[in-house]
Amino acid sequence: ALATNRQFSEVQACTLAVALLLGLFLPGIAAEWAVGKKLHLMRQLCSRVKRGDYRELLPVPNESSEGDAVDPVLALMRDMNWMARHIQIREQDITRMIDDLRQSREAVRAQNQFLTNVNEELLAAQAELQERTAELEAACRQMETMAMTDPLTAIANRRCFFEHLERHFAARICRCKPISLMILDIDRFKTINDTYGHQAGDRILMRLAEVIRESSRDKDLPARVGGEEYALLLPDTDSQEAIAVARRIQSKLAVSQFALDSRELATVVSITVSIGVCTMVTLPCWDRDKLYSYADQALYYSKNNGRNSISFYNPDTESIAEVRLN
Ligand code: GH3
Ligand code: MG
Ligand code: MG
Repeated sequence: ALATNRQFSEVQACTLAVALLLGLFLPGIAAEWAVGKKLHLMRQLCSRVKRGDYRELLPVPNESSEGDAVDPVLALMRDMNWMARHIQIREQDITRMIDDLRQSREAVRAQNQFLTNVNEELLAAQAELQERTAELEAACRQMETMAMTDPLTAIANRRCFFEHLERHFAARICRCKPISLMILDIDRFKTINDTYGHQAGDRILMRLAEVIRESSRDKDLPARVGGEEYALLLPDTDSQEAIAVARRIQSKLAVSQFALDSRELATVVSITVSIGVCTMVTLPCWDRDKLYSYADQALYYSKNNGRNSISFYNPDTESIAEVRLN
């Protein structure tokens, strides 16, 4: 009985010891298992956040009124949930900002393209404008030339001649150099027209213009001032030089045969001209109309004196005399 009793006591003692051990370690093991599970959940949350998946947060109960100071793991889980939510919010903000920036960049690119197009259009318009301006200037120059040129003979017309004469008179007052004027008129031109026709007459008018131009210098101005009447302004030219030019013209005409049409066996005629010359030296009281009028009077003196001659108006004696060949 004693032995049996002792065995029972030993079993009791062992059971007590096991119970004691279990009582001591079981809560710790249970607590450790619970913490391990929460840590695992936290690691899973971290992985999801890394992937950008914010749909599922950590399962935590509503915060108690005393806070979670009592359970630091729970407090940590709440903090992690808070961080995950804020990371999501920031990420959404950043995504929105990137979208905005992309849209702004697109808008700037579109604006830039628009400005480039406008610039190209402006450059094209500017080039066209320059072209039109150049054309216009050329047309203006051409019109000015046409307004100053006799269309038949291509030498200066009456208007151009008198403008030129005016300018010379304005400049001459201080230059104090002689100026001569010659007026030429074809003799019996009407007869040529009547005999050979108006076109033949035109050819003679053109050829005579050439002869006058060939006989004058670059600084002289030949012009057709009337139907078959020409003038030649000779700046810086005294009476002797002017008469020499007049003689040169008459000599050329004397040996010229004027073709009246373009056929090979063309009809040819000779023509003569009557010439009036006047030279003005430094006399400020003179004007261009007087110079022209005196040369014109000399021309009609030649006409009345049998034609094909040169007459000179002497402003000093106010007389006209025919220039005789030596
Ligand atoms: P004079 O010796 O007195 O100068 O006689 P003329 O026949 O030359 O003078 P008149 O004034 O009688 O005639 C001038 C002629 O010039 C008359 C006209 O038909 C002609 N005429 C005027 N302009 C032109 C023209 O552009 N072409 C042609 N072919 N003839 C013209
Ligand atoms: Mg005539
Ligand atoms: Mg005439």
